[in-house]
Amino acid sequence: MPELPDVETFKRYFDSTALHKKVRSAKADPDGVLEGITAAGFARKLNGRTFRKTRRHGKHLFVDIGKGDWFMLHFGMTGYLKYYKDPDDSAEYQKARFELSNGYHLGYSNRRKLGKLQIIPDPDDFIADHDLGPDPIESDLSFAQFRDRIADRRGSIKAALMNQSIVAGLGNVYSDEILFRVGIDPHTKVEKLGEKELHRIFRSMYTVLGKTIEKQADPEEFPRSYLTPHREPGATCPKCGGTIEKVTVSGRSAYYCPDHQRRGT
Ligand SMILES: [Zn+2]
Repeated sequence: MPELPDVETFKRYFDSTALHKKVRSAKADPDGVLEGITAAGFARKLNGRTFRKTRRHGKHLFVDIGKGDWFMLHFGMTGYLKYYKDPDDSAEYQKARFELSNGYHLGYSNRRKLGKLQIIPDPDDFIADHDLGPDPIESDLSFAQFRDRIADRRGSIKAALMNQSIVAGLGNVYSDEILFRVGIDPHTKVEKLGEKELHRIFRSMYTVLGKTIEKQADPEEFPRSYLTPHREPGATCPKCGGTIEKVTVSGRSAYYCPDHQRRGT
């Protein structure tokens, strides 16, 4: 499921393919993922527009299409982009397609209907309206700000990391990875974590995001010491040789190693 590193990878893909191209025709599935606009309205808005620049915030990608409009893409659980020339090469479950001025196409695919495509006037208003916290890569988030945003939360550290209003962009996979690296059990209550542990989590977030963006969010390319390539119950922990378990934490599934990940001090 696309999280910050995945959407950053989609952004770079978009930038290296469709950016600065003009849309000859846009087509979206009327029963698909459009939010607040009909398929006909969507086509009318995008036809003839140029993809002028992109911006990512958390798991959202925004594309400036001029005249005060932005195209917002959210990838839900299974969304991705594909750039192709021959219409026969379009991806499965394509929910929207843009024919570009250079004869190529950009497709937005999503097997499940959890993603979203929307035309909005302003990304900053969108971010505020959806109560999204700072993007850890795109903002200068300091440790003090991170600590202040997270410290008064009740509940598990796993849920806090996934809470988009604290920081935007982390989901199931990368919250587990961040905690795995620093040996903290995902069930740990935020209030049990001291300053030192929060600081280790903060640094781990940047290590994990930096490395996984560099590896284009492809788990096969992640270091073998990472949890993500071993994300299945019963797998051997690459850190300590323990056994990876799947549990439910705050209603979400979490993978962790009970042998080296401990509840806070
Ligand atoms: Zn372990």
